[in-house]
Amino acid sequence: MKPIPFRRLAAALCLLGPALALGAPGAFAQSAHAVVEPAELVLRNGAVYTVDAARSWAEAVAVRDGRIVYVGSDAGLGALVGTRTRVLDLRGRMVMPGLQDAHIHPISGGIEALGCNLNGGATAAEYVAIVRQCAASKPQDSWVLGGGWLMSAFGPGAMPSRALLDAVVPDRPVLLWSADGHTGWANSKALAIAGITHDTPDPPDGRIDRDPQTGEPIGSLQEGAVDLVDRFAPPASPEQRMNGLRYAVRMLNAYGITGLQDASVSLPDLETYAALDQAEGLTLHAVVAQWWERAEGLEQIAGMERRRQQFTRGHVRATTVKILQDGVMENYTAALLEPYLVDGSPRGIPMIEPETLKRVVTALDAKGFQVHFHAIGDAATRQCLDAVQSARASNGPRGLRHHISHLQLIDPVDIPRFRELGVVANFQPLWAYADAYINELTLPFLGQERTERMYPIGSVHTNGAMLAFGSDWSVSSANPYEQIEVAVRRADPALLDGAVFLPDQRLSLPAAIAAFTINAAYVNGIDRDTGSIEVGKSADLVVLDRNLFAIDPRAISDTKVLLTLFEGKPVHEEPGGL
Ligand SMILES: [Zn+2]
Repeated sequence: MKPIPFRRLAAALCLLGPALALGAPGAFAQSAHAVVEPAELVLRNGAVYTVDAARSWAEAVAVRDGRIVYVGSDAGLGALVGTRTRVLDLRGRMVMPGLQDAHIHPISGGIEALGCNLNGGATAAEYVAIVRQCAASKPQDSWVLGGGWLMSAFGPGAMPSRALLDAVVPDRPVLLWSADGHTGWANSKALAIAGITHDTPDPPDGRIDRDPQTGEPIGSLQEGAVDLVDRFAPPASPEQRMNGLRYAVRMLNAYGITGLQDASVSLPDLETYAALDQAEGLTLHAVVAQWWERAEGLEQIAGMERRRQQFTRGHVRATTVKILQDGVMENYTAALLEPYLVDGSPRGIPMIEPETLKRVVTALDAKGFQVHFHAIGDAATRQCLDAVQSARASNGPRGLRHHISHLQLIDPVDIPRFRELGVVANFQPLWAYADAYINELTLPFLGQERTERMYPIGSVHTNGAMLAFGSDWSVSSANPYEQIEVAVRRADPALLDGAVFLPDQRLSLPAAIAAFTINAAYVNGIDRDTGSIEVGKSADLVVLDRNLFAIDPRAISDTKVLLTLFEGKPVHEEPGGL
């Protein structure tokens, strides 16, 4: 299938388009009879999937001053091609709007990638070998810090032990975050520095894993318990943060990503964004979510407003607040309506008491903040929806695009509430197939019935809610083509014949692309300017090596990006690609 009904725009409309769409002064100085200014860049002979309201296709796009000034047929380009216009013949290749990742951690992910990086390892032995290598290569570092390990490497119900790390690094503290960011793995030296012993109580928002016989801490720390050690580790330097962000932006541009929502920023992170933007290195639109400190109250909102004012400039918008409402399933900290099927029948840990959450969200909504929730369990999801409902009741509709990330489990009665409340469902589609996390770490303690309701992307979509997608990198891969493939297939993108996990929840390709383009732009509050290929919008474009609509869906994840334009300028070019 290759649907290419061209949208043929009249040349006159294209002349008027950019100035009118931008509302620029002098919009009426140009008339349909004026001499056409040549474009700086023209892409022609392409399969341009515009993601406009009609989801129409075109052949050609022209760019001037960082803006799209023409979308239509090759024949309609006319005088837009001047003597100094750079013309790229796409030879039928697919063009899409630049993608936007609606939930990602660029700075910590970049620091992790440049630190002791356990991503890529798959067994405990591989992790230990990498840690030994990290320690040997940086003898001057007082701590060995990094992350990226998977709980599945340690087997069902097992947690990583400090003894494994002590064997290779006995003399310096080691702290390694799990890939999902919810568990820390520390050696004995690190526990000693933090004063964590047999007698240390669990913090209210976390758990120190202990040997069931002796009660001694084994070395793995859940949620808030990681902070007990992490607070002694040297914080990342401004230079490390900057290098981490640069690394992430380069990687994302290479995937065709030209916008993102950073799901948690601190003040030093905000300063890093501002500095990189000033250095003209922030080649994407960044909406950043200020972290809600659970230990503080509503008084922290004044500081958030100051930081929003100070840091919303250039390509940065500090217009969002991130609220973590529960943990994750694998360590029984996701908040559930019915208990986990394990000893003691726990129901997880709601991070903020639900009535308090309503007050917090209502106050943030009143101050014009978008709220970005983390909710994994069905109880946490309901608490977040209830909080938005409460804010709506108090403040009325304010056009704030609150969204809930992750949504591993949603009670069926809550699914229609996303549309009713205008809450965007922000899924991480790469998680929605039956990998070891689901088969070995989730199914045994969630049970069959609940497992068969996990990541209900299709149901939320057919109930009329808006979907946005994000990677949660460095929790999992930032490659959007892997994520789109899983959204469409619900199967392991690395396998050609992997099991399909809940076929009814599969999404159409147009819906999956929308979740990464126009809908992600909507949730980022920049959909008037980005997210589709339309005259007047920022020239954020990506040229792919294949037409996603014309291939076997199992090949979507192998897509390579040949060219990424951000505001009309190439920020990634595959050598010899075009
Ligand atoms: Zn996250």
